[in-house]
Amino acid sequence: MLLLIPGPVRTHPETRAAMAADIAPWDNDFRPVYASVRERVRAVAGGVEGEHATLPLQGCGHFILEAALRTFVPAGAKVLVPTNGAYGTRAARLVREAGRRVVALPGPDTRPVTSAEVASALEHDAEIGHVLMVHHETGSGIVNDPAAIGAAVRAAGRRLIMDSVSAFGALPFSMAEHPECDAVVFTSGKCLEGMPGIGFAVARVDRVLECEGNAGSWSFDLHDVYTHALRSGWGSFRFTPPAQALRAFSVALDLYGREGGQKARLARYTENARVLYDGVLGLGLRPYLERRHQGPVIVTVHQPQHPAFALQRFVDELKARGVLISNFSCTEAPSFRVGCIGAVTPAEMRGAVAAMGEALEAMGVRERVAA
Ligand SMILES: *Cc1c(COP(=O)(O)O)cnc(C)c1O
Repeated sequence: MLLLIPGPVRTHPETRAAMAADIAPWDNDFRPVYASVRERVRAVAGGVEGEHATLPLQGCGHFILEAALRTFVPAGAKVLVPTNGAYGTRAARLVREAGRRVVALPGPDTRPVTSAEVASALEHDAEIGHVLMVHHETGSGIVNDPAAIGAAVRAAGRRLIMDSVSAFGALPFSMAEHPECDAVVFTSGKCLEGMPGIGFAVARVDRVLECEGNAGSWSFDLHDVYTHALRSGWGSFRFTPPAQALRAFSVALDLYGREGGQKARLARYTENARVLYDGVLGLGLRPYLERRHQGPVIVTVHQPQHPAFALQRFVDELKARGVLISNFSCTEAPSFRVGCIGAVTPAEMRGAVAAMGEALEAMGVRERVAA
């Protein structure tokens, strides 16, 4: 099955094979694997030894994002969240439910938030201490620009938390170039092409040390993750880890290096997205985004306005042809989304486009005037 969703992604057979082992997390064969993952991940994040630390947490992206929020933002403090998409809106909910105050910066889900919008929001509210930005919006496929937004946050003397869950490893981001950033967060199962199950924050050590006692939660306290590493070593976990997923992730990082790292991965995903974007246009469908706002991670497409079109039926027809896409829409207008990430080649993307054409034919959706 060709899995075309924005996580968990299709993985390389070598990565999957590394799961097939029984592992004791505290075993001396496993500890160096975990310690090395932490170092390699810090390097991918442009982190510097001694200044930045990799602070992993069991679980999904929401968990590590909540942990970063709780750790770096004191209870009751204000956080600006650009909500130009479904994941920005989710991030705002995480902030609110963690007992921090949200200032939402709404925008249409068809274009990136601008640095001028962020600068203006910060200027109008001196109580905002942090900006929580979503790097790549996994609802629509737009890319918010960390260089521009980061500069605005820096100029205003505020702090940044970066949700790069669906971008990290493919879109460039360097902690060394963003001193305003407390932490960038991401997971094992998206652009780094590992199994799902581990969240990572690469964080500034000086900021971690200032944040003792903020979290109001033992499980979600990244300060505690850091001090545990100092006490017990960088190969040690506080609580039982998904050890198999970590071992597989170590192999996924080997493959990432072998492919050529961030630049090579971005090039492959960009070509996947281009094949898909041109392909759906060729089928008479309308992409959700203008080409200039289209990122390389997912392509979202307006659902055809045809009485015979139903999203679940379309997904089922595609699945019968060996291609699996998301069966829900997370945009303002009804859409379907197709992932461009994972161990997938442009040739396979061309096959997916052909399968979409066949699926629409089978449904009797011929005049494809997009909504
Ligand atoms: C996937 C994703 C998350 C986290 O999702 P989980 O389902 O909790 O892993 C957070 N932010 C963005 C932008 C994402 O794409």
